[in-house]
Amino acid sequence: MPEQLSETHHFALNWQLQLSEAFTTIEDLCEYLELSLNELAISQAASKQFAMRVPLSFAASMQKGNPDDPLLRQVLPIRDELVDYTNFSLDPVGDIQAAVQPGVLHKYQGRVLLINTGSCAINCRYCFRRNFPYNDLQLSKQQESGAIEYITSDPTITEIILSGGDPLLLSDARLASLIRQIEAIGHIKRIRIHSRLPIVLPARVTDELVKILANCSKQMILVVHSNHANEINGRVITACNLLKNSGITLFNQSVLLKGVNDNAAILCDLSEKLLAVGIIPYYLHLLDKATGTGHFEVSEIEAKILVEQVQNTLPGYLVPKLVKEQAGAASKQYLL
Ligand SMILES: *Cc1c(COP(=O)(O)O)cnc(C)c1O
Ligand code: SF4
Repeated sequence: MPEQLSETHHFALNWQLQLSEAFTTIEDLCEYLELSLNELAISQAASKQFAMRVPLSFAASMQKGNPDDPLLRQVLPIRDELVDYTNFSLDPVGDIQAAVQPGVLHKYQGRVLLINTGSCAINCRYCFRRNFPYNDLQLSKQQESGAIEYITSDPTITEIILSGGDPLLLSDARLASLIRQIEAIGHIKRIRIHSRLPIVLPARVTDELVKILANCSKQMILVVHSNHANEINGRVITACNLLKNSGITLFNQSVLLKGVNDNAAILCDLSEKLLAVGIIPYYLHLLDKATGTGHFEVSEIEAKILVEQVQNTLPGYLVPKLVKEQAGAASKQYLL
């Protein structure tokens, strides 16, 4: 089948089918991108440690034939992942200690984060949860009632964060039921969803999903995750417009990644493209030091210089807050 035709066919599928057709082997992805395997430092061993997973919607924004494409670099398993870096560990942000019960992280004042699922539509090689014991920590349907009880019994909690993994991988029915249970808790003011799906699998943003989110009686905030302006393609723009027009507040968080976005012009371009679709830049995270991600690290000094350059170029509302996560701290640490 000619490629254009097969892509048109793919993007007409529902999100579950699109997800089932995601690239899961290095060979398939490289063939699609017209890259020969020997021009890349690929590693099958790395993909065994943490599986490769890339939806076509994301891969379609990569530049064919470019082994250094900033989107490709985020998802391609490479040999650098097997290098041991000192100070990199399995649980760099102390999430395992912060779990008050399975799937419930209560680390910061007033906010509780629920790990609704361990899965993601895309596997980002730099992910701090790549080594996370998901099976022990994710909130199963059966454990939901325990989480709801915990939240109900503590009136200091005012915001629930649905996270993961990617919480928008839950079915509409499961999401709607969870939101209904949270809505019934009087002291909750806001529900915040942390999801990369509007960026990497925008077909997930269906009318039905938008209705579930927009009809919630609590304030609804969606924090997406995009690292590079090239990720904001036409399908993403359509999805963000749907969300924005339904009154959902949209923010973005990025991770500062060597070889992806460690450049002031790239960061400025990302902020501009995000705002154009109604998304306000929120956080720019320093890399969490998770085993297997050392080659993505940008030093704190370099990071500050970069963000100062962004500050000198853009209005304040387009400058993301440079933060780092410190295990045991009362909030994310602001670096500027
Ligand atoms: C990052 C994080 C939050 C949210 O922090 P904000 O600064 O409010 O965005 C909440 N809980 C946990 C466990 C987190 O890691
Ligand atoms: S979408 Fe987020 S949680 Fe999922 S693999 Fe990427 S960085 Fe990790």
